[in-house]
Amino acid sequence: KVVTRFAPSPTGFLHLGGARTALFNLLYARHHGGTFRLRIEDTDRARSTEPAIAAILNGMRWLGLDWDGEEVYQFARADRHAAVAQQMVEHGHAYRCYMTQGEIDAMRAEAQAAKKPLRIRSPWRERSDGPADQPFVVRLKAPTEGAVTIDDQVQGAVTVQNAELDDMVLLRSDGTPTYMLAVVVDDHDMGVTHVIRGDDHLNNAFRQLPIYRAMDAIEGGWPDPVYAHIPLIHGSDGAKLSKRHGAVGIEAYRDELGILPEALDNYLLRLGWGHGDDEIIARDDAVRWFDLSGVGKSPSRFDLKKLENLNGHYIRAADDARLAGLVADKLDLAQDDPRRARLETAMPALKPRAANINELADGAAFLFAERPLAIDDAAAPLLGGEAPALLERLHAALDAVHNWDTETAEAAVRQVADDAGVKLGQVAQPLRVALTGRKTSPGIFDVLVLLGREESLARIADHTP
Ligand code: GLU
Repeated sequence: KVVTRFAPSPTGFLHLGGARTALFNLLYARHHGGTFRLRIEDTDRARSTEPAIAAILNGMRWLGLDWDGEEVYQFARADRHAAVAQQMVEHGHAYRCYMTQGEIDAMRAEAQAAKKPLRIRSPWRERSDGPADQPFVVRLKAPTEGAVTIDDQVQGAVTVQNAELDDMVLLRSDGTPTYMLAVVVDDHDMGVTHVIRGDDHLNNAFRQLPIYRAMDAIEGGWPDPVYAHIPLIHGSDGAKLSKRHGAVGIEAYRDELGILPEALDNYLLRLGWGHGDDEIIARDDAVRWFDLSGVGKSPSRFDLKKLENLNGHYIRAADDARLAGLVADKLDLAQDDPRRARLETAMPALKPRAANINELADGAAFLFAERPLAIDDAAAPLLGGEAPALLERLHAALDAVHNWDTETAEAAVRQVADDAGVKLGQVAQPLRVALTGRKTSPGIFDVLVLLGREESLARIADHTP
């Protein structure tokens, strides 16, 4: 049975790369009828924070990255990690190392002089006469010969010579586990079968496998996991995605950029995984189609324009009440504010034009504007020249309309244009500016209906001679 996991370190907010890693793990598990677990790797006590944990959990819930079971907190499992290290020492797969900082520094200087990387094989590797009262670390007794090949599901077969690895620390002198040990013990104990994560962890896999193999030799039941190291997300300039490319935290896409979660999911899925030319892929289809062989080897480039295009699609597909709620929240409207209902009514007219929630809110601004309306600088000239006279005729024509719907309004406006011998646009443009203060808006007949008869007539009258 497939078990995957997402294992973020809560030292910052959930970022795009992490969200995509979580999504791939979720889809892989769901595709195979398996389990998707969440582990918070909070062992770095100085840098792990409660707000970061909350941001990760909320971000995952928002994106619908629903994990199975309770999340596991790594720090709480430190005793278990230490116990495994102890077991490895007892069976000769790890050893207590009493090297002092001074000795390590000397080893480093020697390596530097020889222009070689520092690879620690401690003299204590073969000794068991350590001083009882001295501090020690526990080191892996790493194999020194041969090579390890990982048959990575994304990177292919990757081989590292054991001579290139060192006897890494498993337990620090204060008894706390290192990241390498904690990850392996937790993955084993959580039954993780597939480790799908960023390819910045590929090197770690070669350091983690010896721990599996030692424990498998000791007690059995520690098979190698299947690895899939997925390429990182890069910015549009090809450099690794970072702050200077814009927002990297998930919540900024929700709160600042007005992106819908299903759009971000769809975008992240397509970033690094493909199913033919399909751009719009619903979650159900993603679960049905997802596989690791569709994950490319090269880094993908983040493209905000593409995300916004997808977002526009999902906005058009979204439920009006839901969108109205999001816009109302953005505008800080109270729960019982009657403007919420007006937003919902306006949504069909607003949503074809919007790529994000901010644009929806902005497009809705005319609904709630107070008279006399502020007029955009770019729109003001459209109220000059013949406009006041045309608006006066429009006012008279619309004042006679009592059946206030789009068809009747349209007929009345067209009639005014015909009577004045001008094109519809010459009437519609000043009308739009008078009603919305802008050069662009939803369809002008929709605007008339959404504002209602009284308000429309009043706004027009504000610009008649
Ligand atoms: N905690 C690690 C990170 O946030 C991930 C560890 C793993 O996936 O094995 O980068």
